Amino acid sequence: MKRSEKIDFLIVGQGLAGSVLALQLYQAGKKIAILGKEENHSSRIAAGLFNPVTGKNLSKTWMANEVFAQLHSFYSEAERLTKASFFHPFPIYRPFLSIEEQNEWMGKSASAEWLPFISKVLSSTTGWPGVNDALGGLLLKQTGFVDANTFLDAVKNFFEQQERYACETFDHSALQLFESEVVYKSWTASKIIFCEGTESLNNPLFNWIPIRPLKGETLTIKASLPENAIINRGVYAVPQTDSTYKIGATYEPRDLSPSNTEKGRVELEEKFTEIFLLPYTVVDQAWGFRPTSPDRRPIIGEHPEHKNVLTCNGLGTKGVSLAPFATSLLTEFLLTGKRSDIYAAVDVSRYYSLYWKAVDKK
Ligand SMILES: Cc1cc2nc3c(=O)[nH]c(=O)nc-3n(C[C@H](O)[C@H](O)[C@H](O)COP(=O)(O)OP(=O)(O)OC[C@H]3O[C@@H](n4cnc5c(N)ncnc54)[C@H](O)[C@@H]3O)c2cc1C
Repeated sequence: MKRSEKIDFLIVGQGLAGSVLALQLYQAGKKIAILGKEENHSSRIAAGLFNPVTGKNLSKTWMANEVFAQLHSFYSEAERLTKASFFHPFPIYRPFLSIEEQNEWMGKSASAEWLPFISKVLSSTTGWPGVNDALGGLLLKQTGFVDANTFLDAVKNFFEQQERYACETFDHSALQLFESEVVYKSWTASKIIFCEGTESLNNPLFNWIPIRPLKGETLTIKASLPENAIINRGVYAVPQTDSTYKIGATYEPRDLSPSNTEKGRVELEEKFTEIFLLPYTVVDQAWGFRPTSPDRRPIIGEHPEHKNVLTCNGLGTKGVSLAPFATSLLTEFLLTGKRSDIYAAVDVSRYYSLYWKAVDKK
């Protein structure tokens, strides 16, 4: 690490938020350095799916047209830059559970609103071996997955080779803030950007932002599943590099235990066997915490008092798709100082009242 030279941005945290932001700022010609811990309990657990139509009631992701256009160009360019392969556009197939649902999607599929994201509505089974889809299903497009571990390793290697990555735990007590720069140990930067996921709750500068940890568990299984699409109904099965599949995920906002649970395993296996009528073996289980926000939007921007201290957080359940969009807004703001209307929707300033309340209490 070239510690003596003054840099533009010091980024803390090398999950999806920190990694995507680091690449965006690098591409914009900025001098950055990134500090990250080996330990990660979100981005490296993620199945990495991107899907514009999600949730029990299948709603469209916020700003889907812009978010998904940005995602495709960002990860394709990131592959080129890092010379690694992690971006896998792939159809997602959602079997129908009722005739009503089938009818509803037959109708919706013709509308301009849904057309960009629906490939086909099937009214009878695909016939894919072992898939329980008697009523057909919805074949989605602009979908797929990012192999998050390969992506994070590629970004880490990319910056490590340029001596711009250091594996270390950031010590908040060692940060010095000045009018036009920040100093942390032997680093001097114009600004510091915290991308710490749920660990922002331990950051004295940003512990007031309303990040709510949402626990999720996944299973890794061995099985022979159809290779035509990622099947996603209640659970998803995402292919991994070693011929296994990641099955996920649970949503447990009340469980803050940092461990796998029997309940999680049972729930995932039950949901898996509703959709897949195939033999499988569980080979691993993992847990993590998604950094969610109350309005399900990212939280980016400046600290209320220290303008050279920023956050990039709140990617929630959709880090893969929201990170390129949120960090491009932040990059634009950092380069131009302009706050667009869309920026305002994700600006951390919508929560400044929580900071002032916390300050008043002291
Ligand atoms: C089970 C599960 C499945 C998921 N599946 C998907 C999916 O299919 N698709 C999708 O889009 N999203 C998925 N997500 C959500 C996704 O993982 C998150 O949106 C994303 O990982 C958030 O990224 P982040 O960088 O903000 O946080 P994190 O990944 O938590 O990264 C923060 C990083 O900062 C580091 N850090 C914190 N404090 C310090 C410090 N003091 N010093 C140094 N480093 C520090 C941490 O170690 C960590 O590496 C899933 C999440 C879970 C838990």
